[in-house]
Amino acid sequence: MKSYTIALLRGDGIGPEIVDSAVRVLEAVGEKFAIQFSFKPYLIGGAAIDACGEPLPKATVEGCLAADSVLLGAVGGPKWDNLPGHLRPEKALLGIRSAMGLFTNLRPAKLYPALKGECPLRADIVENGFDIMIVRELTGGIYFGERGYREGKYGEEAYDTEAYSRFEIERIARVAFETARKRSKRLTSIDKANVLETSRLWRKVVHEIAQEYPDIEVCDMLVDNAAMQLVRNPSQFDVIVTSNMFGDILSDEASQITGSIGMLPSASLNEGKRGLYEPIHGSAPDIAGQGKANPIATVLSAGMMLLYAFGETEASEAIVSAVDKVLEAGYRTADLAHGAPALSTTEMTDMIIKML
Ligand code: NAD
Repeated sequence: MKSYTIALLRGDGIGPEIVDSAVRVLEAVGEKFAIQFSFKPYLIGGAAIDACGEPLPKATVEGCLAADSVLLGAVGGPKWDNLPGHLRPEKALLGIRSAMGLFTNLRPAKLYPALKGECPLRADIVENGFDIMIVRELTGGIYFGERGYREGKYGEEAYDTEAYSRFEIERIARVAFETARKRSKRLTSIDKANVLETSRLWRKVVHEIAQEYPDIEVCDMLVDNAAMQLVRNPSQFDVIVTSNMFGDILSDEASQITGSIGMLPSASLNEGKRGLYEPIHGSAPDIAGQGKANPIATVLSAGMMLLYAFGETEASEAIVSAVDKVLEAGYRTADLAHGAPALSTTEMTDMIIKML
């Protein structure tokens, strides 16, 4: 029997509830496909501050590095909002991403047919639905470049610099081409090559790597046009690859047009098979402990883990298909029920397990 160790970072707010849902779904899918999971919980965020005075204890980092993969709920909440920056729960997110060398962020944005009514775009625009995978570079670019304050032409000025090495672009481009190969073989590379030198290198290197993937159709798009195209005709996109900052902005835009923050998973990957999987939403302190949280984003994050970390394609597809069936059958948690009777977090989890 195959067996994997998963580090669980439940975190704060609804984090424990949704991670526990994903654990139950993983256990059920493990039984069906003869996979054994061993779960090791570690503290992170506010829960870690309360227990040991820091948001990312050493034991947590060591546990994540030793595990086969990591499942994270969410961190943060009003209780810790007034702490100094280095002690904020959110500091733990950057810390764990950097400790694990997670240079790729995969964020799918899919409009479920059953949830078309949730999309803020006009019905005729999303008639054919959309299913986009954004591959965002996560450890380079302007968020990590030289920055500071200096005396400029008009007095005090601040600056941030964007730098990308050929190595960093090649590495993320290969992930994107491989991702496209597993999907519809179409890739859009987004940059600002009409203005930025880093984007010109980005475009040149992406085209070079494209030679290794003759089966993938690749096109370039300027980021301003991409922001517009995402709301004009989202179904034209399949896989998108872009830099850290452009990816940050475009992936939030893409998630909003699906209309449902409680549905969207994500994966952050490094060179090896390890990775960190988490919902894109936060710790939702307003509904924590009330059994109202939608567990689907975290359950689908566990599904991405099965696919990307372990290559368990069938088990991963079983989770995605169970979620589809639950939605098609009309079951909703409160965030999607618009006041109609809704399932609790546990009931929704039970229903997904039933549909597996
Ligand atoms: P949020 O995503 O936690 O919540 C925004 C709104 O969406 C809330 O009304 C919430 O109830 C709802 N919501 C979110 N997830 C839901 C789910 N699964 N089911 C049902 N409803 C859901 O964003 P926020 O309110 O801006 O932030 C709350 C806290 O989370 C803050 O401390 C913030 O720093 C932190 N945060 C953490 C992460 C992370 O851990 N990766 C990401 C974003 C925000």
